[in-house]
Amino acid sequence: MEEKGFLCRVCENKGKESFMIERHDMLICPTCKTSFIMKEKSPLGRYEEGWKRNAEYMFPLVRPPLYLNDLANPRLYFLYEDSYHTLLIGKYNASIVLMGVLLEALMKERIWLKLGLYFRGAYGACLRKIENERLMDAKDISFLRKFKDNIRNPYQHADDAQIVKEMGFYRVYPIPIDNSKSVAKQLEQGMKSVKTGKLKPVLMPVTHPLVRDIAKKEYDRKQVIGFFNQVYDFLLSAKIKYFKQEEYEEHHKKFGKPI
Ligand SMILES: [Zn+2]
Repeated sequence: MEEKGFLCRVCENKGKESFMIERHDMLICPTCKTSFIMKEKSPLGRYEEGWKRNAEYMFPLVRPPLYLNDLANPRLYFLYEDSYHTLLIGKYNASIVLMGVLLEALMKERIWLKLGLYFRGAYGACLRKIENERLMDAKDISFLRKFKDNIRNPYQHADDAQIVKEMGFYRVYPIPIDNSKSVAKQLEQGMKSVKTGKLKPVLMPVTHPLVRDIAKKEYDRKQVIGFFNQVYDFLLSAKIKYFKQEEYEEHHKKFGKPI
């Protein structure tokens, strides 16, 4: 006899017969899209599918890939790659945090090149050193400072309320749920009331813990391309302005060659 698998209970309740389809570690109903995770199966195939889908969407929207010889600096190249690849697979928060790490390392490389000093301070201290020693143009210092205040600090310190603040309010539909009755049925009824306009939305500040995490994900997705392209352009112009061949030669003369 043919193995037909599991019947979808949601469809069954509506008097329909629909068999769930297995996909990686999930069972999905092709009719109503209800899905379940099967914890005994590996999620790797599902992850890979998500990464691939995301990367194919994002790849043409961000600046073209760089190669090691474009930057001629393995430390900066590997950090650029960390931020780029996490963006491609949809890990936007990680990608943005890594942009801050990349800019901090860029300042440290500049300090090393000009002063022969392995600088160990954090982003703010690097910036002060760069400014005091006049190691970059005022315009670039201003870019690095704005990036620190508006992006690097809130992301580095997980200050989510600060990050989403400018989104203002979130539309929420308060569907009343009585836990002693079928939740699925009440949700379905609630969704109908939303569609017909019977249930009105309430405006909730995005900083409220109930909506903040969802709002943050949405915000990161919207902003990440712009952030990444700005950092990418800064990186390429810094490579030309602040990491010149003659500066390396001068460094070696002053501080000696490593080998
Ligand atoms: Zn179904």
